Amino acid sequence: MVNSFYKNRTFCVVNLGCKLNFAEASTVARQLRGMGFVQVGEGEAADAYVVHTCAVTAQAEKKCRQAIRKLAKQRDGAAICVTGCYARLKSAELEQMPEVSLVADKREVAQKIGEHFALPGSARCLLPAAANDGDDFFSAYSSGNRTRSFLKVQDGCDYRCSYCTVPLARGVSRNIAIDKIVAQAREIAAQGVSEIVLTGVNVGDFGKSTGENFLQLAQQLEAVEGISRYRISSMEPNLLTAELVDFVAGSPKFLPHFHIPLQAGANRILGLMRRRYAREQFAEKLLYIREKMPLAFIGVDVIVGFPTETEEEFESARAFLEELQPAYLHIFPYSMRPNTPAALMPQVPEAQISSRAKRLGALCDALHAEFYRKNTGRTSSVLFESARKNGYMLGFSENYVRVALPYNPELANKIALARMLGAGEDGNMRCEVVK
Ligand code: SF4
Repeated sequence: MVNSFYKNRTFCVVNLGCKLNFAEASTVARQLRGMGFVQVGEGEAADAYVVHTCAVTAQAEKKCRQAIRKLAKQRDGAAICVTGCYARLKSAELEQMPEVSLVADKREVAQKIGEHFALPGSARCLLPAAANDGDDFFSAYSSGNRTRSFLKVQDGCDYRCSYCTVPLARGVSRNIAIDKIVAQAREIAAQGVSEIVLTGVNVGDFGKSTGENFLQLAQQLEAVEGISRYRISSMEPNLLTAELVDFVAGSPKFLPHFHIPLQAGANRILGLMRRRYAREQFAEKLLYIREKMPLAFIGVDVIVGFPTETEEEFESARAFLEELQPAYLHIFPYSMRPNTPAALMPQVPEAQISSRAKRLGALCDALHAEFYRKNTGRTSSVLFESARKNGYMLGFSENYVRVALPYNPELANKIALARMLGAGEDGNMRCEVVK
């Protein structure tokens, strides 16, 4: 409910994490606007800043601290409220930063900011040390961008990969029921958005807490009027079933775009990581997708320099990926996280980690260029975005080719058929609209 007390107060939300954080940060912003606060853009002075943090690597945490210090300089005396995974894992560390006004759970952050203004000097740290126990679910979707919305369908993870702190920060795997998610998709459609990206921590685990499954969710979302396209943000390989691949292959709305974490290309390392598949099973899944959808975009996450990874194991992983030919590699140099089993294993020297990341980066560039070459000359439906950059507008094809077209305001947030003409110097595919 709008409170006139907040009417002239401004706020800004700064998101430093993944698309799941983005959906949550956007939801916190809606809550604050609903209370009467006025949102300002990043870089503008505000009375309150919400910093939605990430803790996936040491570097991510460092960036959060830098952002907090920068915001404090932007507006002297502003309330800086920190939430998200870093806040959940290390609330005491953040609380000790003099720039931080309060540390709060994302479910309570809007309310606590309100209290901060109503009761100056109220508690600074509002986060209990324990991770979420599963009886909560912060429903979230991003809004404000009429091209696409990121819809959170699942949170937390029951896996225990030996390098990962996400389950400590986000708790056990859980979701809300399909009918509630379908209702949110209808809300998104009512805002004129035509594409939804389904996000979560372990999306394929959807349904564990409600006795449903991801395929059922996808089938029911497909029937939502007004939404023309769905993408699945990421899916663990062991949860990517043949039924789901078949469903996507036959769906008019679920797009041929997969993001699958491999993480390591050597079975010994996969075992140490406590991943739930061997590389042979990963290859089978990828080849099955390609059999059903030959030009599907397949992005693969890889961690390089996991403890004890030898040069031979890295090279064998590189050769494995070169043979599989995904369209893109998301490369993560291993980052030691406190309180994980991997932190106790013999570490690979930094210089070797960087060298491996660089070599895999070169392979990624070649794979991406080859994927764009294979798409040149094809026609695909493209959802164009509204921003104008250097005289161009950008969009994504069904299979996630980033296309650029001379700016045409009539196509903003619209889907049109376009022919791919070849990659431009900026790496984006040039295209012409055919319908
Ligand atoms: S599947 Fe593994 S890497 Fe992914 S969030 Fe769960 S524990 Fe972390």
